[in-house]
Amino acid sequence: MQRVYNFAAGPSAMPQAVLEKAASEMLCYGNSGMSVMEMSHRSGMYLEIFDHTQALFRELMQIGPEYEVLFLQGGATAEFAAIPMNLMGEKGKADYVDSGNFAHGALVEARKYGTVNVVASSREENYTRIPQIDPAACDPDAAYFYITTNNTIYGTRYPALPETGDVPLVADMSSNILSEVYDIRRFGVAYAGAQKNIGPAGLTVVIVRKDLLGRAMEITPKALNWQKQAEKGSMLNTPPTYAIYMAGLCLEWLKAQGGVSAMEKINIEKAKLLYDFLDQSDFYRPVVTQAACRSRMNVTFNTPSPELDASFAKEAAAQGLCNLKGHRLVGGLRASIYNAMPVEGVRALVEFMQKYEREHR
Ligand SMILES: *Cc1c(COP(=O)(O)O)cnc(C)c1O
Repeated sequence: MQRVYNFAAGPSAMPQAVLEKAASEMLCYGNSGMSVMEMSHRSGMYLEIFDHTQALFRELMQIGPEYEVLFLQGGATAEFAAIPMNLMGEKGKADYVDSGNFAHGALVEARKYGTVNVVASSREENYTRIPQIDPAACDPDAAYFYITTNNTIYGTRYPALPETGDVPLVADMSSNILSEVYDIRRFGVAYAGAQKNIGPAGLTVVIVRKDLLGRAMEITPKALNWQKQAEKGSMLNTPPTYAIYMAGLCLEWLKAQGGVSAMEKINIEKAKLLYDFLDQSDFYRPVVTQAACRSRMNVTFNTPSPELDASFAKEAAAQGLCNLKGHRLVGGLRASIYNAMPVEGVRALVEFMQKYEREHR
């Protein structure tokens, strides 16, 4: 059987070495006589895996003791509700930047729990850039300021984090966490669903500054209450045990590659290969034209027609370059090139793009 280059946006490709390690431990982890999947989450053997994974995550993102790292479930979508429920507090209002479909989903959810002030939006421009934030539009008394650091569907990324003064910055990092170095101290909360750049689906990581705990609304479901989860070491109920184990293997792999800063260099190189090719071509058209706003994780582009887009994705898949079809909301094509996508995969894609252009122009 031949493995393909998988450009899926999420769940997405995993490092092959990780899958091989997991396969080798599938039936029997260490001398436990059982699979990790079969272990009690309270057992010593499993707690070692859990603690090791949390410690590695803290190390790779350089997260200090003033932050809690929670391993939860429910995906980014559950956090869209958990964020206002845990943070709105007495202020009852928050600033949001509407930079994409997931940012929009987050603010629509937040409106159920308080007042949402949309301080900047690129919705009218189909989210093809990161909107300019006018400091005068921001509320210095907001409970928090919400952004999406990388917009997965449209392929945009914040070139710089907004300055929010004393207002805690809250960031959905689902699609670019661990892909570039961030100073975690810039954030009140940073969170991510695991299925793009951390590990398999099922795990949601929430990094929260400890002084922000203890403000949850009365109605907050126990499972979404960060303080209660922190008190119980993310084991208020059964955590996604196997997804956490797999995330641990991915983090070990990332560390062996040199960690986040080494990975960032590779990611810049991969993105440059694709954007340089797109920019010199008069056949393909990149969706995001402002170079500063371009995502390094999700590269969106079009051929001259929707028919050619469809045929491109189909022919590419036949060559082992899979899942290049754009999101159903926007169409076109999208190459998601997270940490696990090697430079060779991107080179193979560019070669295919050259060949396809010659044959279809
Ligand atoms: C994938 C994604 C989501 C949705 O995550 P779920 O785990 O499916 O809830 C939210 N935000 C961003 C930026 C994403 O890339």
